[in-house]
Parts: sequence; structure tokens; C-alpha cells
Amino acid sequence: MKKISLLGATGSIGIQTLDIIRGHRDAFQLVAISAGRNLDLVRKIIIEFKPEFVSVQEKADGETLRTEFPELSIGFGIEGIEEAAIYPKADILVNAVLGSVGLSPTLRAIQAGKTIAIANKETLVTAGHLVMDAARRHNVQVLPVDSEHSAIFQALQGENEKSIEQLILTASGGSFRDRTREELQGVTVSEALNHPNWSMGAKITIDSATMMNKGLEVIEAHWLFALPYEQISVVLHKESIIHSMVEFHDTSIIAQLGTPDMRVPIQYALTYPDRLPLPSGNRLSLAQVGKLHFSEMDFERFRCLKFAYDAGKTGGTMPTVLNAANEAAVAAFLEGKISFLQIEDLIEKVLEKHNVIMNPDLETIQGVDEETRKSVISLI
Ligand code: NDP
Ligand code: MG
Repeated sequence: MKKISLLGATGSIGIQTLDIIRGHRDAFQLVAISAGRNLDLVRKIIIEFKPEFVSVQEKADGETLRTEFPELSIGFGIEGIEEAAIYPKADILVNAVLGSVGLSPTLRAIQAGKTIAIANKETLVTAGHLVMDAARRHNVQVLPVDSEHSAIFQALQGENEKSIEQLILTASGGSFRDRTREELQGVTVSEALNHPNWSMGAKITIDSATMMNKGLEVIEAHWLFALPYEQISVVLHKESIIHSMVEFHDTSIIAQLGTPDMRVPIQYALTYPDRLPLPSGNRLSLAQVGKLHFSEMDFERFRCLKFAYDAGKTGGTMPTVLNAANEAAVAAFLEGKISFLQIEDLIEKVLEKHNVIMNPDLETIQGVDEETRKSVISLI
């Protein structure tokens, strides 16, 4: 029986993680959760899964829950997320919270020796060096949940990492794949939220439309698989059937395929190195799919991908700025304060004026993250 602590339980990945637990009650037990402000869903999760510890974003919501569920341990704010992350009974932490707020809970959980199943890519982008270094020191596994990284991780099983020629991440192209830059003027929030293949949270759906999601994933891959950016490439693949690939020195390419269902990589991270049947999983029929398409990535059309490669190669605090600027700009777009194309303009401006600090510690990263968000807001 694996005991799970789940951060971001009320989100898209969180809900799908709960579905996996629901389907394998004999294999998994939910012992701790953190959520944001969706109190109604938190109540349902408490009643169905009976976790022992629950943390929510606001103190007042925590107090409401305390009166409703007096037997529960309750936390709130960042301390609450951290407490959920290091909950003593948990063996594995599924980090599915949104944004760089997930960094300190991840580091705390690593120090506490928990296995980490990481969906929260912003954490690896903003401070991958701290996370992977801590994982090495504490002999902790960081297992990918993001579908591309899970595909690569699966393709690497039994392989010698020294034989890797390159990682090939696939990109669906998001909601606006077939539009030119001119056609992106004035697109609406609801158009941007309409992803062709995947149903995901709002922020990552916008990130897919700007291609920043793939940029964040390139940086995530750099840290998870310890490879230089020159060995990480991206190819457009509109069907999202091949979730990513590894090319080896002998020219062999190993790919992982499947229907677009995030529960597959979530469950693999929970069962690794074993596999379990996927509750109500849809099997892939290649004959029905018929054709798969691939094309070269256009860095002029998808500027955010270029920003991400550049920020990653520069290193230091540059990826922190990239991530924080993106989080702030996407939030402003979702609130209707800026246009779609302004997202990348704001990110570019903030990146250009940043003086990079190399080898930043946690405090430096948190300071740069906060400053960057302020800069974006002042530019708006
Ligand atoms: P959602 O927006 O659907 O969910 C985010 C979760 O985090 C919710 O539970 C939310 O709580 C909680 N949350 C947000 N902000 C805070 C905060 N400040 N304090 C505490 N809790 C907070 O996001 P997704 O599930 O789509 O994504 C989660 C992570 O997984 C992201 O890093 C994303 O990039 C990554 N990812 C997602 C994929 C997907 O298919 N969705 C695929 C691959 C990676 P509440 O709703 O209660 O307010
Ligand atoms: Mg992904």
C-alpha cells in the first residue's frame, strides 16, 4: 500500500490523481492533501477519501473546515502546503499545485526523504538545480508526471543514459497551431482555452497556445535527464499520440504512444517500476488513427519557445524570470487585462532587462520571482 500526499488536489491533475486512487484502493491510500480555494471540492474529497491532513489557501477556509471536520488536522497558506508535503505517513508526494509556489514544499519533501512525482513543472523551471541537487544528496527519486517527460522516462528504462543522442519532445501546437502571428491579434480568452487534444487547467492551456509550455518542458527535461539544451529538440506533432521520444547514438528512436490521457503518466509515476491496468482507459487503435504528422518547429512563430531555450542556456536566475514573468502575464491575460500577444511582449521585456545571477540559492530565487511579478504588473 503506497501512502500518497497530493498537492493541488482540486486541480486538473489532482482530480485525475484521485481517479487513479479511486480505481486502485488496494494499492493507494490518500493521507494528506493541499488545495487552493475550491472548498466545495475539498469537502467532497474529505468525505470520499478520508485524508488525515488537509491544507487550504486561506486561513478562514481552514477554520470553516475545522468546525465541519473536527477529527481532521487542518493547515493553510504556504506552511500548510509544506506540512502536507512532509506529512510523516506519506511515502510519495504528488506535486500538482500550480506555479512556483510549489518549490519550497518540494524541497522540504525531498529533505524528508519522500519520493516525488512532479507535475508542477514551474518548480523545476525556476530552481531545477536546487531540486535535483537536493534529490541527489537525499537519495530521493524525482519521477516525471508531465506526459512528455514520462514518455522519455519510459523510453529510457533499461537503457544507458550515455547512449542518448537527443531527446525529442513532441508539441501539439495548442489552440492556435494553424494561425499566423497576424491572426493572433485580438484572440479571446475562451478561444485560447479551447485546446484541441488535452483537457487541462487554464494556465497550462494558455501556455500551450503560446508554446511557452513546450519551453518550460525543455527546461524541465534539461533538469530531469541532466542533458544540455543542444541535446533536447522539439517537433510539432498535432495528434498528441507520440508523447515524446529518445534518439540513441545508433540512430534508433524509442517512442511512447497512447491516447492523450494524463492518468497514464500520473499512474506510471505512482506504480513505477510496475504497471497496473488503467481504470476506464482508452486503448490506442493505430489502424483507426491512420496517419501521424510531424513538422519542424518555427521559432519565429512561437517566440516563447525561443525565450525558453535562451533563458535555459543562460541559466542562473534567467529561467526564474522567464517562469515568473510568464505566470504573471498569463494571469493578466486570463483576467482580461492584456491581449494574447502581450504575454510574450511582457516576458521579452522583463527578460531583456534582467541582470542574471548565477548559482542562485532559494532566497535569491524567491526574491527574483517576486520582483519579476512586480515588474510585469508595473508594465501593464
Ligand atoms: P489547475 O489550475 O487545474 O489546478 C491547480 C491546483 O493548485 C488546484 O488544486 C488549485 O487549488 C491549487 N492552487 C493554485 N494556486 C495555489 C496556491 N497559491 N496555494 C495553494 N494551492 C493553489 O492546474 P493543473 O492541474 O492543470 O496543473 C497543475 C500543475 O501540473 C501545473 O504545474 C501544470 O503545468 C502541470 N501539468 C498539468 C497538466 C494537465 O494536464 N493539467 C499536464 C502536465 C503538467 P483550487 O482550484 O482549489 O483553487
Ligand atoms: Mg506536457
